[in-house]
Amino acid sequence: MYLFHGEKAAIIDVGPKSAIPHLLSAIAELGMSPKEIDYIVLTHVHIDHAGGVGMAIREMSNAKVLAHSRARSHLIDPKVLWEASLKALGDIAIKYGSIESVPEDRIAVATDQMQLELGNGLTLEIYLTPGHATHHLSLFDRANGVLIAGEAAGVCTDGAVRPNTPPPFKLEDALSSIDKLITLEPQKLCYAHFGCYDNGLERLKLYKEQLLLWHNIINSATNVGKNLEEILLLLREKDRSLDYLDGLDRDEYARELALLGNTIYGLAGSVQKP
Ligand SMILES: [Zn+2]
Repeated sequence: MYLFHGEKAAIIDVGPKSAIPHLLSAIAELGMSPKEIDYIVLTHVHIDHAGGVGMAIREMSNAKVLAHSRARSHLIDPKVLWEASLKALGDIAIKYGSIESVPEDRIAVATDQMQLELGNGLTLEIYLTPGHATHHLSLFDRANGVLIAGEAAGVCTDGAVRPNTPPPFKLEDALSSIDKLITLEPQKLCYAHFGCYDNGLERLKLYKEQLLLWHNIINSATNVGKNLEEILLLLREKDRSLDYLDGLDRDEYARELALLGNTIYGLAGSVQKP
């Protein structure tokens, strides 16, 4: 979640339902009322980014929800999204909380290169960046060189980046999206998971290389019948950025392993689920 505040205020992603009380407390700590939020921009509508939006807009009663055109129907009727979340995440989805629908008249469709003028010289440019999800977008604050990548540049744990490419994943789309972000030459890159880092442009270029490396390793391995565990070992051998796994506690490790499994299935396209 990120908050941009000019004369108008925009929140980027609100998190799942279970996070909304924390989000509202954080807004109060800034001395703001939820009614002062003008836009909720959703990088995509996966449950951990947007599951709580139906709840949030009751408090943020003046906010428009801006999302990719492919996300619109899921926001109005979240049944398919909820079932997919349960299937992909199991108990984690239950902990996140159910997904409430958003009234149609609160939703606006975000288009490529759309400019969101927030006043006081602050403008957010929106770029459609399919890959991690077909309904994915990123935002760029050109005046400050800050890119809010969502998950188009991977996920970051204590500085270490890994792909997050759940099925159905299209490598070509993801690579085009990264190229689109590279042309923006961001100074700072902010990940949805987690944190903002300098050397944004370099991070994007490295992520593109990493995605191609993972794709090659995973597809060569699946061609000779390697299983998920063996593929993970191969990835850990060739990509030291996965060393962050050693620092996780048992629960965190189990969660990461599930997400890495989905990432491998997405990149392979043809790996059999056990
Ligand atoms: Zn996601």
